[in-house]
Amino acid sequence: MTTDCIFCKIIAGEIPASKVYDDDRVLAFNDINPQAPTHVLVIPKRHIESLATVNPEDGDLLGHLLTTASRLATDLGLAERGYRVVFNIGEDGGMAVYHLHAHILGGRRMAWPPG
Ligand code: 5GP
Ligand code: ZN
Repeated sequence: MTTDCIFCKIIAGEIPASKVYDDDRVLAFNDINPQAPTHVLVIPKRHIESLATVNPEDGDLLGHLLTTASRLATDLGLAERGYRVVFNIGEDGGMAVYHLHAHILGGRRMAWPPG
């Protein structure tokens, strides 16, 4: 737990969140400011700052995070029409919360290139 990290506080139960999935390694919850009809964040329970700071030893956890995102998207009814999974990294990537998270966005047509 990193004390001033808002996502660590959600994991610790100190800040409420609308949880979608929870296991020993990852947590998924609805984004507080959704950018699509479905907007879920999937985070590792261990604090990792961003995709820019992962190590080879994090591979199993990242694999679990992505396969969980895939299953959740299917369970949320997004797989047939499609959806987007996004990692924002650093300032140019538009990152606001420095605890690694995958955004699952779906329920509307996405634009490309992204803004
Ligand atoms: P980033 O820009 O870092 O990739 O995305 C951070 C996301 O976290 C944003 O979409 C923002 O709406 C969401 N967020 C920030 N604080 C909270 C919070 O306290 N609860 C929830 N559920 N989402 C949050
Ligand atoms: Zn954290």
